[in-house]
Amino acid sequence: MRCSPVYEFHDVGVCNFSQVAGELQKFGGGTSWNLMVIPFLGNPEAEAFEKFAMQILEWKKEGHCLYLHGYRHKADLSLKRSLPGRLALRLTNFEAEFAGLSKSDSEMLLRKALQAWQKLNAGEAQGFVAPAWYDSKMLFNLCRELGFENYSSRFIIWNKSKGSRFSLPFSTAGLPECVIPIVNFCEKIYLRIYGIFGFLPVPRIVKHP
Ligand SMILES: [Zn+2]
Repeated sequence: MRCSPVYEFHDVGVCNFSQVAGELQKFGGGTSWNLMVIPFLGNPEAEAFEKFAMQILEWKKEGHCLYLHGYRHKADLSLKRSLPGRLALRLTNFEAEFAGLSKSDSEMLLRKALQAWQKLNAGEAQGFVAPAWYDSKMLFNLCRELGFENYSSRFIIWNKSKGSRFSLPFSTAGLPECVIPIVNFCEKIYLRIYGIFGFLPVPRIVKHP
């Protein structure tokens, strides 16, 4: 089945939502984005929190999809992790919040994330994506049990009724300046090829603030 390219904006939080709103405006209307929201608020001033919650609702009204993107995004270093999990933390500057956690700690963190999400008063999150895409089959199953309708990992997008599809993400996050034009060029070419061969992995255009 043909599937439209997916547009994602990652790491939307209380500290950067106005910047994200500005960048989304630059891309113009007409595109529905999956917005990966970090629900942890820290101790923002009441005004900042209200503006953030209002912006989230505004995006929802505009037809964008709101995804839960971890709890704090930054890993809690007091939690026990497997060796690959600890390695993932090193590779991601400690952003891979769920990497290498036990099932009970993953569930605890997911529940904390959902509690923080509730405070935003934006209804249910429409999907889940683990920070830095470090997830596991176990985390996927937990998310399904918790009733998420959508889930994506680095190379797979899943929807409750449509099932799984391979997906190719194009992201320039963390790349040196000189490589960015090459990624942008590959993205353009791949979008064209996908327009002809719709059975290929679904292109995912990933932006970060
Ligand atoms: Zn992220």
